[in-house]
Amino acid sequence: MPKQLPETTNFLKQAERNVTLEGTMPLVKLERLSEILCGNEGELFAKLHFTSDTGYLGLHGRVEASLELDCQRCMQPMEHKVSGQINFGLMTSEKYEDKLPPDVDPYLLEGDEQSLVEILEDELLLSIPIAAVHQKECSEFLLRQNEERRVEKEKSNPFAVLKDLKID
Ligand SMILES: [Zn+2]
Repeated sequence: MPKQLPETTNFLKQAERNVTLEGTMPLVKLERLSEILCGNEGELFAKLHFTSDTGYLGLHGRVEASLELDCQRCMQPMEHKVSGQINFGLMTSEKYEDKLPPDVDPYLLEGDEQSLVEILEDELLLSIPIAAVHQKECSEFLLRQNEERRVEKEKSNPFAVLKDLKID
């Protein structure tokens, strides 16, 4: 079983040691995300590489989770898999911002430890679609609604009567 990620860690030290952290984190620790989920019993999985051998201090990785969201079509809960990429250039001071490659997001190191919860939560929040809907069929409620609409349509179609006769 993958181990749990720490909530905070010293990004600078981890980068100097080229550490890879891999593990899970309960979604309940992500308060902002929890507010928009139907349920937060699940967990995220992340793999993070702290690097210093690329000419700058970097934090690169991937986070994924299966989130319980409201379907925006039928308003019933649905499981939605999301994933995001993390691509930070770590700076001990803002003056190093223009030393970073253009394809990384600048991250200013403040304090002794930095929050893994925060960066993983930010990435998951960004990965949630604006309008998440069930991929195939929605809830039974919607299926029933469609069926009723189909029946209504047939009623208003004069040829439907002929079709009934043919079946007989
Ligand atoms: Zn739905």
